[in-house]
Amino acid sequence: MPFSSLGLSPALLRAVSDQAWPAPTPIQAAAIGPALRGCDLLASAQTGSGKTAAFALALLQQFEAALPQSQRRLRALVLVPTRELSTQVGEEIRQLAQHLPRALKVAIVFGGVSINPQMLRLRGGADIVVATPGRLLDLVQHNALSLSFVATLVLDEADRLLDLGFSEELSRILALLPARRQNLFFSATFPPAVQTLAKTLLHEPVRVEVAPAPQTQPDIEQRVIDVDAGQRTQLLRHLIVHNHWSRVLVFVATKHAAEMVADKLRKARINAEPFHGELSQGKRTQVLADFKASRLKVVIATDVAARGLDIAQLPVVVNFDLPRSALDYIHRIGRTGRAGEKGVALSFVSAATDAHWRLIEKRQGLSLAREQVAGFEPTTLSPAPAPAPEHDANSAPSGTGGIKGLRPSKKDKLRAAAARGQ
Ligand code: AMP
Repeated sequence: MPFSSLGLSPALLRAVSDQAWPAPTPIQAAAIGPALRGCDLLASAQTGSGKTAAFALALLQQFEAALPQSQRRLRALVLVPTRELSTQVGEEIRQLAQHLPRALKVAIVFGGVSINPQMLRLRGGADIVVATPGRLLDLVQHNALSLSFVATLVLDEADRLLDLGFSEELSRILALLPARRQNLFFSATFPPAVQTLAKTLLHEPVRVEVAPAPQTQPDIEQRVIDVDAGQRTQLLRHLIVHNHWSRVLVFVATKHAAEMVADKLRKARINAEPFHGELSQGKRTQVLADFKASRLKVVIATDVAARGLDIAQLPVVVNFDLPRSALDYIHRIGRTGRAGEKGVALSFVSAATDAHWRLIEKRQGLSLAREQVAGFEPTTLSPAPAPAPEHDANSAPSGTGGIKGLRPSKKDKLRAAAARGQ
């Protein structure tokens, strides 16, 4: 199906052709038509599916159809969970809007930076606002924005908005919107809280659920390395140097860990920067720009970077600390293997995180062979799971230093599993 069959205006078709997109992605093919007819949408869509253009094109077409107003009024509101996503989404909308007969003002607003410049930019109004919820409310409170004329609301990454604790802000925003409006709801997953939100928000929605297009199906090799917690930075350094990794995104659990690991790598003369929510927006933008331009080899990030970032040619993602949930695991590893490239996702597992890793594996339906790297073999063993009745420690390949006893050690089990797999 070509873009021209979706009912888009010539100005929007021209913008699409500027992007050199060969054809609509499945989500675009399924969502644009109903959205143009004014239906509410309930779309299941992952990052990388082309969902931004799906709602952006539908929104923009409605601006073309609208009568010119003497005064700019905010007619479309896009809520996103993170600053990075607000910038990405806002910029994509601007690009797609560039050939429209009337120049639209697309405002991008997010917290963590001074509110004053954003208030100044909103003077004279805006047609479309892309915002994180907290800052949007601040701007409304400062009378910099009115939500009374919003005709279309987009919730992008609704699951993430709730994960990040924006539920109360969302309720307050919804209360300020006109009751009659179109709602376009996008989420990668549908846990109960997201379903409840969708039910309260949507009116007879068209459901759009599409498998990722084959060409965008990520090709990610997932690997697990057993290593003592205290050896992870050394191992990371070793892997970066030994494998000549050009660019690697490393996930850690806390801001402190991001700073610490980046610091240690820099001391080992590896160009690394932390990336977390407490850095200034200027610093975060700089780190990303340096990373994308290959001026920076390693970014050590908290989960704030796990979603929405689209870094072409990111061959490796490392889970230095494991993610809290199986869902976060998917989002983290999804930063690699984008746009048809191959990617590797490595997870470090120590004795303390072994049980947590097994839970993630179970939720993902995975069973990955454990690896060890010479010189970094773990010395601390995880508590052994209950022994399989047919298994005996002594059946493990001998002479490799396994702990002998009544219960098979983790190493013994790994070796036995590896031997069985041969
Ligand atoms: P998204 O899912 O919105 O984050 O989009 C992921 C990437 O897909 C972005 O870099 C878009 O530029 C790109 N994209 C969007 N639509 C298409 C399309 N029809 N064909 C190829 N790439 C696209």
